[in-house]
Amino acid sequence: MSCLDGYDPDALRVDKACAAIRACLTPITGIERVATRSALGRVLAEEIIPTIDVPTHDNSAMDGYALRSRDLVKGADTWLHEIGTALAGRKFEGELKARACVRVMTGAVMPEGADMVVVQEVVKRDEDAIIIPAGQVKGQNVRLAGEDLKKGVPVLKPGHAIGPAELGLIASLGIAEVMVKRRLRVAFFSTGDELASVGTPLPEGHVYDSNRYTLYGMLQRLGVEILDMGVVRDDPAQLESALRTAAMNADVVVTSGGVSVGEADFIKAMMAKLGEVLFWKIAMRPGRPMAFGRIESDGHSAFLFGLPGNPVAVMVTFHQFVRDALLHLAGRTGDCAIPLLRVPCVADLRKVPGRTEYQRGILSNEEGVWRVRLTGQQGSGVLRSMSEANCFIVLEHDRENIKAGDLVDVQLFEGLI
Ligand code: AMP
Ligand code: MG
Repeated sequence: MSCLDGYDPDALRVDKACAAIRACLTPITGIERVATRSALGRVLAEEIIPTIDVPTHDNSAMDGYALRSRDLVKGADTWLHEIGTALAGRKFEGELKARACVRVMTGAVMPEGADMVVVQEVVKRDEDAIIIPAGQVKGQNVRLAGEDLKKGVPVLKPGHAIGPAELGLIASLGIAEVMVKRRLRVAFFSTGDELASVGTPLPEGHVYDSNRYTLYGMLQRLGVEILDMGVVRDDPAQLESALRTAAMNADVVVTSGGVSVGEADFIKAMMAKLGEVLFWKIAMRPGRPMAFGRIESDGHSAFLFGLPGNPVAVMVTFHQFVRDALLHLAGRTGDCAIPLLRVPCVADLRKVPGRTEYQRGILSNEEGVWRVRLTGQQGSGVLRSMSEANCFIVLEHDRENIKAGDLVDVQLFEGLI
C-alpha cells in the first residue's frame, strides 16, 4: 500500500482515489479455453492472427455486371455481351474475354479478368447486349480480398473485451475456440444489525437488504463470477469469519455498510487485523466514506472495497471505483472509462466546490436538443432516484453553482456493463 503515500485520507479527490486504487492492482493471470460463443463478455487472453484473408476472394458488393474496365468506351455507352452468371457461393468458371460481362450477385467471387461491377439498376438491355452507361470507374463495387482481415496481420490483442462484433470477427476466421482470462471471482456481503433479508418479515426498525440486490445486478453485468455471502451482523467475530472466507474464495471482496463514523472503528480494526486497509473520506457526494485495501487469510489474499451503506452511495462508488478496478483486474486493457457527454442543464443546480458530485439526472431530447434535468429528491438513501435517472450529472471537484443553460457533464447509465 506504499503506493498510497502522500494522499490526504480526509478529503481524497475522486481522481486521486481512482489512480491510487489502480496503482495497487495486478490483473489476474489464469486463462482458459472456451467455445467462441461462450467468450461473449470475457477478456481475450491470446492474440488473434488471421490464417486466411477475409474475404478470401475479391467479390461483388452489389447485384450487377462484372466487367473489364479496359473495355469501357470513354464518355459513351459500352455494349457488352453477357456470357454467364456468378452467384454467392457459386463462381463463374472461365475467364472474361474482351467486350464480355458476367451477371454477378452480391458476394459472388469476381470472375477472372473482371475488375469492376456495374449495378443492375443503371444497366440497359438490348436483346443479348448489356449497355453500360458512361461514368463507371475501375474497381467500383468490388470488395477486395483481405479488406476486412488480412492473413498474418494481428487483429485482436490480449486484453480486448469480447463483444458481439468480436464474436463475429473471430467466427469470420473460422475459429471455434479461444483463450480467455478466467473469470474474476467477487464475493460480496452486506453488514448491519438493522438488515432483514427479502422474503422474511420486517422487524420494527429494520430495513430490507437492498444493497445486495443492486450489487448483484452490477456485478452480474460485469460478467464476474459472484459469491453472495448474505448479511453479516455488526459483530467482530462474524465479520472476521466472513472476511476470511471471502479472502480465501475470491479475488475481490465488496462489502456495504459499516464504514461511517461510529461503526467504522471496529470494522477498521477487524480489516486491519486481516490485512492492510485504508479508510478514506473521499471528496465526493454521495459516497464519502470508503475503505480500500487487501486482506489475507490462510495465504489467500483479496482486494477489499468497503462501500458505504446508503443505497445510492453504493451504486455511485461502485461505478466510480469498483467497476474500473474489476475490469482492470479481469485483464481488460485500453480505456474502460465511462464516457462523459457535455449537455445543457435545464435548471439551476447547487454545488459546493471541493467535492465531485454525482447527481441523478434525466437526459432527454427536447425539440432536437439533448438536455439534462434532475430526478428530484437527491438523498443518498433515495434509491428511486437511480431508477428514475438515466444518467449521472457529474459536477467536477472545483465546480460552483450551476445556472440554467450551463453545460454539465453526464455519464449515461445505458451501456454501463
Ligand atoms: P452504514 O454505512 O452501515 O452506517 O449505513 C448507512 C445507511 O445505509 C443506514 O441508513 C443503513 O440502514 C443503510 N443501509 C446499510 N446497508 C444497507 C443495505 N444492505 N440495504 C439497504 N440499506 C442499507
Ligand atoms: Mg451499518
